[in-house]
Amino acid sequence: MASKVPLFSVEAANRGIDLTGAFSRVANSHWFILGGEVAGFERAFANYVGVGACVSLANGTDALELSLRALDVTRDDSVALVANAGFYGSTAVHAIGANPLYVDIDADSLTMSPSALREALLRHKPKAIIVTHLYGQLAAIEDIAEIASRAGVPLIEDCAQAHGAMRGQRMAGSFGTFGCFSFYPTKNLGALGDGGAVTCSDEALAKKVKVLRQYGWNTKYSVETAGGRNSRMDEVQAAILHEKLPHLDGWNAERKAVARRYGAAFADLPVRTAASVDDDYVAHLYVIRTREREALRAFIGERGVASEVHYPIPDHYQRAYATASAAHDVHLPVTEQSTTEILTLPCFPGMTEEQVNHVIAAVHAFFDRAPRQ
Ligand SMILES: *Cc1c(COP(=O)(O)O)cnc(C)c1O
Repeated sequence: MASKVPLFSVEAANRGIDLTGAFSRVANSHWFILGGEVAGFERAFANYVGVGACVSLANGTDALELSLRALDVTRDDSVALVANAGFYGSTAVHAIGANPLYVDIDADSLTMSPSALREALLRHKPKAIIVTHLYGQLAAIEDIAEIASRAGVPLIEDCAQAHGAMRGQRMAGSFGTFGCFSFYPTKNLGALGDGGAVTCSDEALAKKVKVLRQYGWNTKYSVETAGGRNSRMDEVQAAILHEKLPHLDGWNAERKAVARRYGAAFADLPVRTAASVDDDYVAHLYVIRTREREALRAFIGERGVASEVHYPIPDHYQRAYATASAAHDVHLPVTEQSTTEILTLPCFPGMTEEQVNHVIAAVHAFFDRAPRQ
């Protein structure tokens, strides 16, 4: 009988990790907030990404918001970003009362189109740009960084799906003024709860995020920076993440091996496969595109293969904000088209050979071809 293949398995991902050791270390230290575990993880993660500093936070959305605040983005400023990345960047922009300036995506990579950005910057001067390395695929970050720097606009990388993705020895989170990470349990590096961080090589800006994550205190009880809040990472989560960090590259290699199997197996099918299986893609999500998305989804679902759409509603169509300001007359043809075609297949560390084969067979059965091994 058909085995069930989930979209992700936290159990498989955490197998073999000494979680209880990290827990008891913190419990026995009797220190739970902003202690040695947090400092240790921040140092290790900054080293891993290859930047001067890492500031840990409560979650990835706060990383985006506090980056924007550190760059002095305020109410009514505009921020350039894509509309196909799950509304996380938009959540941060709206939390500040700023306005999203949506930029279309590249049809191959589904990440921000450099030419669309260039065009937008001819007509607008946003206060910041957020580029998302969607599905674990590094965007055209070198081009985008150059366009941003020519326009004098700071660049924020949303790396929440791209821990460890690299091109030319540089890692996601080291190209922009800020790199923003989430450690939500299903991310490539996941905590046992919420967690986030920014990476940053500008000492003053990193310091500002540290101040903003703790009420805007420049020193204890002295609020000298506006826009602060409580957004600290727990010692327990930092200890877990520090324990897991040495395994990240291995897990990414496992994800990529699954992606390579899919890429080869689906090459002759009428579907678009992931644009890259190189170092610049860490296979956070394996997304195919087909006009028959709904039928394929139902068909493989009946055969026990989980799937999902990341993401079904482009940001400018989200009901809560769709009538706000400029959202009305936004035209993003590539974004809108891709939304109807994308389908995420199971791809996670610890996924068995049998599970991968089962997914491949189910997709092939839909297109009525014999599975190839
Ligand atoms: C998960 C995610 C976030 C948000 O992270 P949280 O920790 O859930 O706040 C931001 N951006 C992208 C692209 C994500 O996938």
